[in-house]
Amino acid sequence: MKIGVLAAQGAFAEHIAALLKLGVEVVPVRLPEELKGLDGLIIPGGESTSIAKLMTDYNLTAELRDLVKSGLPVFGTCAGMILLAKKVENSFPEPLGVMDITVRRNAFGRQRESFEADLSIPALGKKPFHAVFIRAPVIEHVNNGVETLARLDDGRVVAVREGKLLASAFHPELTDDLRFHRYFLDIIAGQK
Ligand code: GLN
Repeated sequence: MKIGVLAAQGAFAEHIAALLKLGVEVVPVRLPEELKGLDGLIIPGGESTSIAKLMTDYNLTAELRDLVKSGLPVFGTCAGMILLAKKVENSFPEPLGVMDITVRRNAFGRQRESFEADLSIPALGKKPFHAVFIRAPVIEHVNNGVETLARLDDGRVVAVREGKLLASAFHPELTDDLRFHRYFLDIIAGQK
């Protein structure tokens, strides 16, 4: 299995390390031709406006949008989730707009800019998932066909799946728990 990790800006090295631990072939993606022949793609966290700008500069945006429409599985974490959303509440230039969710950037304000929480994620099994949030977005609306995978204690949605698209407001690549990445690989293989 060959998985690309968008390597424009942000926490791509940690995603590459997690995928290598799971024994798949990994391709850092910066150019449109590097998208060819991938079984899936991860869009990492970072600064969503910078990632979006670099994607446009590298001519990746339109190409990637087409690939997603034709079924490429994509996992977006944090800024990556913002890029996948159809609607971003607070100012954003141009998301890919492929996932039927509405997100709000920097949803936790200054006092809780970064925090960690143990989340119940039934899709990953019984053991709680330790989630790291860094200036995280939140999912404000989940539209038809989108499955909620995880919520905070206050009910706010922080992880979703829509077909072969997966998104989390937190950073599963910053812990040693590989279950979220494995879940993405299972989705690609048609086992979930
Ligand atoms: N605050 C960032 C943004 O809006 C996302 C933060 C992250 O990816 N850790 O793009």
